Amino acid sequence: MKKFLFSVLLCSAILSLNAQLKTITDLPVILDNYLYTGNRVVANIIYGGEGVYEITEGKKLVEVKGNQIVLTEKGEKLISKKKRIAFSLATREANGAPAKTFILLADEFQKNPVVAHRGAWKHSGMPENSIGALKHAVKLGCAGSEFDVQMTSDDSLIINHDASYKGKNIESNSFSELAKTNLENGEPLPTLRQYLVAGMQQQGTKLVLEVKPSDKNRDRALLRARKIVELVHSMGAQAWIMYISFDYDILKEIRRIDPYAHLQFLNGNKSPLELKADKMDGLDYHFSVFRKNENWIREAIDNKLALNTWTVNDTPTLQYFLSQKFDFITTNEPELLFEEWKKATTTK
Ligand code: MG
Repeated sequence: MKKFLFSVLLCSAILSLNAQLKTITDLPVILDNYLYTGNRVVANIIYGGEGVYEITEGKKLVEVKGNQIVLTEKGEKLISKKKRIAFSLATREANGAPAKTFILLADEFQKNPVVAHRGAWKHSGMPENSIGALKHAVKLGCAGSEFDVQMTSDDSLIINHDASYKGKNIESNSFSELAKTNLENGEPLPTLRQYLVAGMQQQGTKLVLEVKPSDKNRDRALLRARKIVELVHSMGAQAWIMYISFDYDILKEIRRIDPYAHLQFLNGNKSPLELKADKMDGLDYHFSVFRKNENWIREAIDNKLALNTWTVNDTPTLQYFLSQKFDFITTNEPELLFEEWKKATTTK
């Protein structure tokens, strides 16, 4: 009998713990904006349930008014000078979700169309997708630096383009097995966390995060989408991130969790209107797709979708997309694109 009672108690304890965890993971507190552009009302709080919000850290910098995050006078001075502030927000609910920390930035992101594809590696001698290549893209002043995220057999998130790293299939090998070999420049195989830590040391270059599809199954693909968003949120990196993917289900899963994440589809087989209906906010298609469907450029602009294209490396094609006023052009030749962009903007 005692044993039975103990099992019942244990089960109900686990169930109530699960109920709490469900609240944390399924209904995370989300803000609709993370950039300060001169308005003291910085963001609205978006939450799936009823909640009373409370600032637990950073009370002198921000306050909650209704469902808005408003900078205090001190917060406003600080964000103008230090360019970023952090605060934590909690909800007071029956099953109490924990406090979540957010980072707000002064909007100092570069205003140019240059996205370095896998970082700026070609003329810097850095390996593709290395932290070194990211740092070089930052140094060049690129508006964005793109990188690819894969997930290992033990659910670690790492940066690599191909499904294999140094001859080992990533989805079938553990992180410790894969990390035995460094990149060509001696850098350890970067984890997503390390990559974000490096990217968040600056605030001029956005981090264009490609979520690679899974070769195994849909569940693994959606799991990697959730784990990536969870990490981005836990690090307060939302202001830096633009998500891209060839896998539409991955983007839809990110949208389900975060209604304000920036999402661009890569695969080229959906019209701007279809993307808009699914609440995507941009299209990042191969340049040949836009050549075949030039009307999609106008359709995207009319529907306020961001326009991005890959991977454009030659002068005439770069000039074409500059003349079409693309928001972003993803390239292995960021230095060349800067030259062409400067020419295009000074001849006006
Ligand atoms: Mg990529």
